[in-house]
Amino acid sequence: MTDQSPSLILIAEDEAQIAEILDAYLRRAGFRTARAGDGDAALHLARSLRPDLILLDLNLPKRDGFGVLASLRQDGTVPVIVISALDQDIDKLTALRIGADDYVTKPFNPNEVVARITAVLRRSLAGGEAGLHRLGGLALNTLAHEISTAQGPLSLTPSEFRLLEHFMRRPGRVFSRGDLVDACLPEAEALDRTVDSHIANLRRKLASSGAQAALTTVRGVGYRLDAT
Ligand code: CA
Repeated sequence: MTDQSPSLILIAEDEAQIAEILDAYLRRAGFRTARAGDGDAALHLARSLRPDLILLDLNLPKRDGFGVLASLRQDGTVPVIVISALDQDIDKLTALRIGADDYVTKPFNPNEVVARITAVLRRSLAGGEAGLHRLGGLALNTLAHEISTAQGPLSLTPSEFRLLEHFMRRPGRVFSRGDLVDACLPEAEALDRTVDSHIANLRRKLASSGAQAALTTVRGVGYRLDAT
């Protein structure tokens, strides 16, 4: 962020009363807000308004929060805090695995949500440098869609780029093939074996780039990226 204007928060929530409460608390805390009442509108506004953070209800009409999140992660790394009516670990894990930055459960204290937003924004500005991720000599610039190493730029296909970006956002975390398909691959390529071939290519390119980073196979689970 080069300008000093207040951060814009997109509230994707179909329950009008909850959306209004969140809106009021966020504005009082000094944020700008926008609202979407279904998943399609959320995705559309995320792309057109480029908010600084998205509060995303999982149970949305037209396109659920998981679908919105998976599409957002194909576009980039906008911070997302998921809101769920269900305090279920499976939803929480799924949301975090496909790239949510935090998770809150209804009913929530709106002040707590504001505190979480502030923390996630601080983290994303500190670590993200507007979309810059570093690991093991790799520098990935989400906005410029570029990745470089000490030896120069690394040439990746769009799917390889999205996969590497996904790993670099969460170094050391294991992702299953299914997670990677959901988060990184277009529907036409959405097969586990497609992930395997992209991973094999990415591994080869990383190895020859001289970067101190490697994709590790975690048997029976999936893959993770480690600095070496
Ligand atoms: Ca809902």
